[in-house]
Amino acid sequence: MEKEIVPHLEEWEEERDVPRGIWKNLGDQGYLCPWVDEKYGGTGAGFEYSVIINEELVKAGSSISVGLHSDIIAPYINSYGTEEQKMKWLPGCCSGDILLAVAMTEPNAGSDLQAIKTSAVRDGDTYIINGQKTFISNGMNADLAVVACRTNPKADPPYTGISLIAVEGNTPGFSRNRLKKLGLHSQDTAELYFEDCRVPASNLLGQEGMGFVYLMQKLQQERLVSAIGSQAAAERMLSDAVEYSKSRVAFGRPISKFQHNAFKIVEMATEIELGRAFLDKLVADHIAGKDIVTKVSMAKWWIGELVNRVAYHCLQLHGGYGYMDEYPISRFYRDVRMHTIAAGTTEVMKVIIARQMGL
Ligand SMILES: Cc1cc2nc3c(=O)[nH]c(=O)nc-3n(C[C@H](O)[C@H](O)[C@H](O)COP(=O)(O)OP(=O)(O)OC[C@H]3O[C@@H](n4cnc5c(N)ncnc54)[C@H](O)[C@@H]3O)c2cc1C
Repeated sequence: MEKEIVPHLEEWEEERDVPRGIWKNLGDQGYLCPWVDEKYGGTGAGFEYSVIINEELVKAGSSISVGLHSDIIAPYINSYGTEEQKMKWLPGCCSGDILLAVAMTEPNAGSDLQAIKTSAVRDGDTYIINGQKTFISNGMNADLAVVACRTNPKADPPYTGISLIAVEGNTPGFSRNRLKKLGLHSQDTAELYFEDCRVPASNLLGQEGMGFVYLMQKLQQERLVSAIGSQAAAERMLSDAVEYSKSRVAFGRPISKFQHNAFKIVEMATEIELGRAFLDKLVADHIAGKDIVTKVSMAKWWIGELVNRVAYHCLQLHGGYGYMDEYPISRFYRDVRMHTIAAGTTEVMKVIIARQMGL
């Protein structure tokens, strides 16, 4: 990370992308989808290996969407794909030759995922897809997008009419548009358009009508990966702010010697410790195969909000320098804003927890 990534972060932010070679490089090191079976090009490592990679990438200051690719999207192919689909796509996911996106959100359906309208109509041995997706991470660069489509508009309840279909990047009728955004500048986020986009019916992942259920099944790990990113970013920002506060002198002493600042740092350090203890327990439980849906929803919203409080106070400790891009805190401040939104908003997490608590 120090050699291949950190020296280029600013350049990639300016260019609004990371070179494709970095993905290949990550793949060569075994850092992409490490948990995938060796038969499909992975190393058969445990989820703990993914945790380390995700944490180290964030702590290095990178916003490369490795966690999304490896630990959020590839599992759909691994769990619901046929043997043929796995042999076709997983080796490329591990090597960095196939970059993944997952397309659920639509302009009029985000939190309310059951309201998606993108349709996939079966026509012989193909599906014809029409519709639009938005806010899709890796959308521009993806070689393969897992797209949530409505295959049965009459299904009752409506969520049983949703299916997941893999769409290859070069499929005619599939186009994309890059979105400008607040942060995560070196990671692309896009709108996807499907106009009479014909894909082989064999690209259906799992069973027709099971898409919504599959999405729900994989959200536990998605939210855990999100919480891991939030925690790692909070730890990195605090460490930078402590170092800065000890060296920046005002009124004849380091700013860390002012009790207000020392207390602020202590408060953040305490909350970050709480987040770490909670998260490590959840990671262990997830690896042990336990159901952590309620607790991971708690971690996702609480650590997601925490990292934003930490960003605010750490930037404040940097004074004017904190507002300048030459200090990483300014980029972290922008980048972490999405932690309370993507992968389910703070409010949606609370809705889930309330439901689980029978409220
Ligand atoms: C940087 C970024 C990357 C993303 N990447 C992807 C991706 O790769 N793939 C993908 O499919 N999507 C992606 N998303 C979309 C993301 O998952 C949605 O933005 C998110 O689920 C919220 O949906 P929405 O934007 O439509 O907001 P809305 O659902 O319109 O919500 C607006 C506000 O209303 C609140 N709200 C909604 N329902 C309730 C409720 N029942 N109770 C209380 N409050 C409620 C929300 O919490 C929010 O504050 C990404 C988003 C961002 C910002």
